[in-house]
Amino acid sequence: MPRMLAEVPADAPDRTVFTWQAEGSTQPELQDEGTEAPQPYLRLAVHGLVWLMCQRCLSPYSQHLDVDATYRIVVTEEEADEYPLDDDEVEVIVGSRQFDLVDLIEEELLLSLPLVPKHNVCPEVHESLLPGSADDESDEGGAREEEEKPNPFAVLEKLKQGGSDGKKH
Ligand SMILES: [Zn+2]
Repeated sequence: MPRMLAEVPADAPDRTVFTWQAEGSTQPELQDEGTEAPQPYLRLAVHGLVWLMCQRCLSPYSQHLDVDATYRIVVTEEEADEYPLDDDEVEVIVGSRQFDLVDLIEEELLLSLPLVPKHNVCPEVHESLLPGSADDESDEGGAREEEEKPNPFAVLEKLKQGGSDGKKH
């Protein structure tokens, strides 16, 4: 998967590995001429870890990718265009005898990449990399603020209780 590998930084500490599973099936469906015929479907699941470059601290990190997609297989482009686009669950692809499954897997993985790859919480930058800082005690605090935000629902709950109280008496 050359396009996928192009996203992986050269100094990634480990290999990028995916496992995939593809399963074909048919479902009886009503055709235009009013008869039922088997409609082919493909279900594709891909899971794995890809190494990406964190855009915040510029070090490699592993990103979990999950793809679970269902495709309706049609014969011609025209048929694909006819299919209503309002179905989010099912994508339509034109099948052929030389269908390239790896290409489809790569396409889905590329689509599932984060727009801005980054750590949830960046590891601390080693002090030797910081410009002109030799202070050993400067690494307390920080990185913890996300956990201490007040829960907005708890605040709402308080407001509700206070409000419904007014009608008593
Ligand atoms: Zn980072």
